[in-house]
Amino acid sequence: MNYKDFSVEEIDIVMQQAWHAFHIYRKFSLTQRAAFMKAIAIELENCGDTLIHTAMQETNLPEARLRGERARTIFQLNSYAEACEKGIWLAASIDTGIPDKTPPKPDIRKMLVPLGPVVVFGASNFPFAYSTAGGDTACAFAAGCPVIVKAHPAHVETSEMVAKAILVAAEKCQMPKGIFTHVHGANFEVGKALVIHPYTKAVGFTGSYSGGKQLFDWGNQRKEPIPVFAEMGSINPVFLLPEKLKSSANDIAVLYAGSITLGVGQFCTNPGLIIGIDGDALQTFIHDLGKAIQKTEPALMLHSGIVSAYKKNKGHALLQEDVHLVAESETMVEENQGLPTIATASGQTFLNNPVLQQEVFGPYSIVIRCKDMPEMIEVAKSLEGQLSSTFMATENDITENDELVEAVKNICGRFILNNVPTGVEVCLSMQHGGPFPASTDSRFGSVGADGIKRFARPIAFQNWSNNLLPDELKNENTLGIWRTVNNELTKEAL
Ligand code: NAP
Repeated sequence: MNYKDFSVEEIDIVMQQAWHAFHIYRKFSLTQRAAFMKAIAIELENCGDTLIHTAMQETNLPEARLRGERARTIFQLNSYAEACEKGIWLAASIDTGIPDKTPPKPDIRKMLVPLGPVVVFGASNFPFAYSTAGGDTACAFAAGCPVIVKAHPAHVETSEMVAKAILVAAEKCQMPKGIFTHVHGANFEVGKALVIHPYTKAVGFTGSYSGGKQLFDWGNQRKEPIPVFAEMGSINPVFLLPEKLKSSANDIAVLYAGSITLGVGQFCTNPGLIIGIDGDALQTFIHDLGKAIQKTEPALMLHSGIVSAYKKNKGHALLQEDVHLVAESETMVEENQGLPTIATASGQTFLNNPVLQQEVFGPYSIVIRCKDMPEMIEVAKSLEGQLSSTFMATENDITENDELVEAVKNICGRFILNNVPTGVEVCLSMQHGGPFPASTDSRFGSVGADGIKRFARPIAFQNWSNNLLPDELKNENTLGIWRTVNNELTKEAL
């Protein structure tokens, strides 16, 4: 079905309703918000196979992957709901007054409160987990904010079905009108109108660098700038340290051929850059990786736009001076399939050419051959911010190369040892975000319940009497949440 783009006037009505809903919903208890999120999870499950089949048709993603992604989305909604109720994210703190101090110390109590309506833009490669009822939406509801989702044009029907499930849950939980709106817009003006609307108070985005940076700029150019939390592309560098590489070149090659081509390379955590020190072990690795890639079958990518961007960006990378093709899949590529490809270049070539740092979204990776450890460190220091970085290393490799460890720590949000970056566990300790340009705000991440904090701000209540304070800050602590009371973390009442 063709959905009409929303006009600026329609967006204004949507935002007015969201603003109205905000003033009701922000007063809802943590338990009410959690119940709403859990009800959305149930409705998503109730969408049954039809939702999976619709997503398969729209995205070319296989059934098992989509079932897994829906289960993950349901888990996100339920686990963020539990986190919402536990209230740790509220960072409630109380410093009781000392009236007879000179000058008297006032009673001060602080907690996080919701920002207001949040506009969410999802990515094409995660039609459930980073889209309509995905992590950003769940976090915003937990924080106490209404949500307006801009449907991704690459999976509008899927988005529409999920939106309906959210609205059914909203009705069952007696949420205010305007708590959630699904907006269509296949042109950028719709996105712009949403971001610059005065009632929009934050934006959550998952997608490309160009899209995220544009929304971020619009958010900052407003009369009242707002936070735009954009999770963007990344090349997720992998460092092959000498001792580990010498002992396991073949195993690493096989492991990485799988990671590079997982989901046809369409993950923001795809390892697009592999760095080693030239020598026999690295040559063995390149050879074995090439062999494994030759045997990997090409598969359908998400949509024709992603395929042409892959071909264009890969072609551009391969055309750079002193970049050499190592291997491509031996199977002929059919229309809309992504051809697994490995390239290589020297450390100096990489250092001289910023094009080689650009994300090629698809089953492609480049192996950089450094002449020695100082050059590997130089390469690490030259890298832009990344969602993840990986060390394939022994303990000796790590203890003997502190400068490299520190350089890599400085550029990434998640630092992996002897594993692959693809696969992002949903849990509180996960960090999915990194220094710019991986994300627009490296202090936050979009996976795990800590993401709720993105859509809230602190407010301190000074000198308020107990009965007038929000329940979260009252002496009795009837909610039983963790609070820092006079610098001690406790659940006790005062
Ligand atoms: P995308 O093209 O940036 O699209 C994401 C959403 O933003 C779409 O709704 C899109 O609308 C909108 N958008 C993009 N550019 C815009 C602009 N200039 N103005 C207004 N709206 C704009 O991303 P994608 O192709 O869906 O996803 C692939 C990219 O996402 C890759 O780079 C991948 O690495 C990244 N990604 C990152 C993460 C992460 O967690 N960091 C996760 C998954 C994917 P239109 O479709 O109408 O353009």
